[in-house]
Amino acid sequence: MPEACVIGRTVLGRDIEAVRFDPPDYARARPAAILFGAIHGDEPATVLQLERLAEELIERPPGRVTWLVPCLNPDGVAAGTKNNANDVDLNRHFASRNWTAAHQGGYFPGTAPETEPEVRALVELIERAGARRLIAMHATFRCVNWDGDGKALAEQMGALCGYEVTGDIGYPTPGSFGSKYGVDRGLEVVTMEVPYLEVDERAWTETRAALRFSVDLPT
Ligand SMILES: [Zn+2]
Repeated sequence: MPEACVIGRTVLGRDIEAVRFDPPDYARARPAAILFGAIHGDEPATVLQLERLAEELIERPPGRVTWLVPCLNPDGVAAGTKNNANDVDLNRHFASRNWTAAHQGGYFPGTAPETEPEVRALVELIERAGARRLIAMHATFRCVNWDGDGKALAEQMGALCGYEVTGDIGYPTPGSFGSKYGVDRGLEVVTMEVPYLEVDERAWTETRAALRFSVDLPT
């Protein structure tokens, strides 16, 4: 059975929830996967995507230990803001080698890396789970981006949803999740941009097979 837990609390004290799904034969499992949504609070479509994936994993367990964190930034989602309640862009806040305190182009990275509770919760979960496959959900484009060892997975996911696959989004992203876990650590990092479910129900039918594939479910 899936196991739900609270992995941390936000700036405003909201729970950050995660659900763990175990494969049938735990001993033969591949390295764990973590999928997370709404690191940007103004991208609630990503929460819906992971809630739908959770429903499918309740029906049939994944082929590897899988952690879903549908909503990493619930304060931002509640307020309708991209940033967290301290107005930090959490995707510029990881302790990557390229992190910088410089406030660039509207992205506030915080005054020091990994001091915001939402990012700390995710960092600690990745360590605890020993996860090597990491899927970051964003909105509202249709594309699959990869860092580190994520190219093969991104290409397979892109083929399944018909989205463009790229290893370079065209601008620097200091302190991003992909910079730390992909570029610095060489893990299998895929960033998936999905359209808004609220106005376009096709989004889930487009992404469903790719997300199932990412957790070793039949597509
Ligand atoms: Zn985003």
